[in-house]
Amino acid sequence: MKSATAVDAARVELLLAELRLPAIKLVWCDLATQADKEGWPAARFLATLAEHEMAERGRRRIERHLAEARLPPGKTLDAFDFEAVPMVSKAQIMAWAAGDSWLEKGANLIMFGPPGAGKSHLAAALGFALVENGWRVLFARTTDLVQRLQIARRELALESAIGKLDKYHLLILDDLAYVTKDQAETSVLFELIGARYERRSLLVTANQPFGEWGKIFPDQAMTLAVVDRLVHHATIFEMNVESYRRRTALERKRGPGRPPTGDNLDENPASRRCHDREGAIVAQAHFWC
Ligand code: ADP
Ligand code: MG
Repeated sequence: MKSATAVDAARVELLLAELRLPAIKLVWCDLATQADKEGWPAARFLATLAEHEMAERGRRRIERHLAEARLPPGKTLDAFDFEAVPMVSKAQIMAWAAGDSWLEKGANLIMFGPPGAGKSHLAAALGFALVENGWRVLFARTTDLVQRLQIARRELALESAIGKLDKYHLLILDDLAYVTKDQAETSVLFELIGARYERRSLLVTANQPFGEWGKIFPDQAMTLAVVDRLVHHATIFEMNVESYRRRTALERKRGPGRPPTGDNLDENPASRRCHDREGAIVAQAHFWC
């Protein structure tokens, strides 16, 4: 470096450390050399350094948000085979991955389907894409989260525990209707859903359609009220396909070059069954029957 003396350089290093500007600390010396050599105006040099720090901070923030999201590893949209679930449109999911059209409104996404249909994968992949786009997400197995909330309630801290989840623009409740819930479990879960209503989004995956929820949750009136809130601003994906694992295992057995198994897959886009709000109302009506 020509223009900065060794003393200046040492001062800069110390000051940048004190100011907590680690990204600038890493690059300033090389950039200063380049700026001196190419005769950059001082403002350009400063702006380049600031931009570098901003970009690094953004990258570190996303890294932090990815760590806190507790997403299952490897479940990305790139790794998701959309052909296996023809009722789910890739273009629509890509639009959802941008986040702004629904997370700002606190709208919900509900995915129904049998085990292995790809609900958890798609939910996690969407969560991952949203974090990369700057949103905060938490992926939770519903039973684990319910246990945590029950502990909070015993400690008289349920409200604050639910409040802490507000920082997440999207809360993914995986396997909501997986095991039968008792009254205490149901009530913390329903308090959580009620607290987020029209403010913060939920993505719910469930093996059982609404019609079966009456068997899973003990309190019918409470269940109706919660379903009502969940579906009010919701899009529902009915992923009624054969288990992906089973399907791929069968395909492997058949060997390459054979047609896919998709007996129950319908390639006709007209048959796609993704319900928006109107669909939600249909599902709700189904629940009420
Ligand atoms: P579900 O939550 O509906 O029970 P999962 O998402 O756990 O199903 O899927 C089971 C396994 O199959 C996972 O390893 C998942 O990554 C894989 N899988 C399911 N559907 C797809 C798909 N369409 N493309 C790629 N992998 C899939
Ligand atoms: Mg699952």
